[in-house]
Amino acid sequence: RELVVSFGEMLIDFVPTVAGVSLAEAPAFLKAPGGAPANVAIAVSRLGGGAAFVGKLGDDEFGRMLAAILRDNGVDDGGVVFDAGARTALAFVTLRADGEREFMFYRNPSADMLLTADELNVELIKRAAVFHYGSISLIAEPCRSAHLRAMEIAKEAGALLSYDPNLREALWPSRDEARTQILSIWDQADIVKVSEVELEFLTGIDSVEDDVVMKLWRPTMKLLLVTLGDQGCKYYARDFHGAVPSFKVQQVDTTGAGDAFVGALLRKIVQDPSSLQDQKKLEEAIKFANACGAITTTKKGAIPSLPTETEVVQLIEKA
Ligand code: ATP
Repeated sequence: RELVVSFGEMLIDFVPTVAGVSLAEAPAFLKAPGGAPANVAIAVSRLGGGAAFVGKLGDDEFGRMLAAILRDNGVDDGGVVFDAGARTALAFVTLRADGEREFMFYRNPSADMLLTADELNVELIKRAAVFHYGSISLIAEPCRSAHLRAMEIAKEAGALLSYDPNLREALWPSRDEARTQILSIWDQADIVKVSEVELEFLTGIDSVEDDVVMKLWRPTMKLLLVTLGDQGCKYYARDFHGAVPSFKVQQVDTTGAGDAFVGALLRKIVQDPSSLQDQKKLEEAIKFANACGAITTTKKGAIPSLPTETEVVQLIEKA
C-alpha cells in the first residue's frame, strides 16, 4: 500500500507573460494549472509513485482540461467530481518587484468549494497510505465538512495524515479566522510542513529557532518540517531533530517548490514508513525532497518543472 491521496483544490493560475509587472500592467497571461494538493499528487506520480486526487472541478472546459492533466500525469482521478453549476477556480498571480507573489482569485463560489461529504470517493480514500491536504478547503462550506469527513475516513482506515496549510491570506475573511481555522485541524496530522512565513503567521514570532518551531509541535505528531527556501529545511521528529541543506541551483521560478518538496517526501515515506523513526533514513528522504524542490525552481511554472526520480538522483549525485 503506497498510494498518496491528495485532497483539495485544483485550479488555473493565470501568470503574466512578462515578469515584474502588476496585474493591470500585464499585457497577456499564460494558463498555469496548479492548486497545491493537485501539484503534490502530480509530484508523487512524476517520481514513479501511486497518487490520486480528490476534489471538485467545474463541468466546463477548464475543469475537463485539469482532469485530463491529472490523468496524463498518471494521477488517479477517480476522486474528481464535476459541478454543473459552478466554474473551475481561477487565480491571477503576479510576482511583485520584492519577489512576493500577489494573488487575485475568482471563487464566487468556485466548484472546488462546493464538494460535499456525500460526493467523496470513500473507497479511494480508504486505500491511502498517506492522505494529504491543505487549508484552503477549510475556508467555506460544504467543502469544509467534506474535508473533515475525508480526514476521518483516511485516519480510520490507517492512513498517515499529511498537512501543508499553504496559507493564502486573501482567501480568508480575516487573519484571525485563518489562524484559528488552520490550527483547528492541527492536532490530527501526523506530518506537518510549514514555510517560514507560515511559522511566523501561526506563532506570531519572526524566528525559526527551535523553541519557536516547538510551539507548533504536538506529542501526536510524527514529523514537523519548516522549509527555508534555498536554505533547505529544519525537521522535528519524536526522538530527534535537525536541519538538511538544499542544493545549489539557478532559481527561475519558485512556484511549486513546496509542493514538490512535500510530494517527494511523501513518496519516500510511503516506500519506507520506518524513515519516520530513523534519523539517518529521514535525513536521506529530506535530502531527496530538497533536491526535488530545488529542481522545481529551475523552470517556470509548477507542474512542468516537477522532476522525475532520475533527475532528482542526478542532482544529488552531482552535488
Ligand atoms: P512555495 O513557494 O511553493 O509556496 P514553500 O515556501 O512552501 O514553497 P520553499 O521553502 O520555497 O517552500 O521550498 C521548498 C523546498 O524546496 C525548500 O525546503 C528547499 O529544499 C527547496 N528550494 C526552494 N527554493 C530553493 C532554491 N532557490 N535553491 C535550492 N532549493 C530550493
